[in-house]
Amino acid sequence: MDARVHSLALACKGFLDDEEGLRLHALAREAAALGPVLEIGSYCGKSALYLGSGAKAAGGSLICLDHHRGSEEHQRGEEYHDPDLYDAEAGAVDSLGHLRRALRQAELEETALLLVASSTSAARLWSTPLGMVFIDGGHSHEAAHADYEGWAHKLLPGGILAIHDLFPDPAEGGQAPIEVYRRALESGDFAPLPTTKTLGVLRRLG
Ligand code: MG
Repeated sequence: MDARVHSLALACKGFLDDEEGLRLHALAREAAALGPVLEIGSYCGKSALYLGSGAKAAGGSLICLDHHRGSEEHQRGEEYHDPDLYDAEAGAVDSLGHLRRALRQAELEETALLLVASSTSAARLWSTPLGMVFIDGGHSHEAAHADYEGWAHKLLPGGILAIHDLFPDPAEGGQAPIEVYRRALESGDFAPLPTTKTLGVLRRLG
């Protein structure tokens, strides 16, 4: 990964471990040759820098899907609320400006297409087959399963499904992402690839 973009990714706000980020970068680099890479839950752009620089190296595209109003845990009074992202006039979280700034600094504005929408409404309209889907949006049971239902079947054979925040021990974190990972495995449509820390990775079968 380009050293300058890597240092921007390390400095970017977000909740992605560097080893996981570098794995995403390598996966995007491979998958973008097959079709567009889509991430659900861009927030301030940390994962977009890892994924986007991989997609760019392959001459492909990254779609950054996020409503930018923050997940449940980012809202005012919640554990991961960040006052820097609060738009007082709107009375709401707004992370879009941070994403645009990160992409501009990393020279990824030509590679990354921003889709500012809810995952469910975007999935309803989206029909282009995808090379990779990274699920890291809302972590509630409903949101995580809706992301899987809306997007996993849009992957091309050989495409990559990556899911962030897998915690086999419920004491360490919410269970929705790992439920989705197990659901994908049980569907018979995916083969498991090695996991990197809390990042689950599967390949869509033909
Ligand atoms: Mg995450």
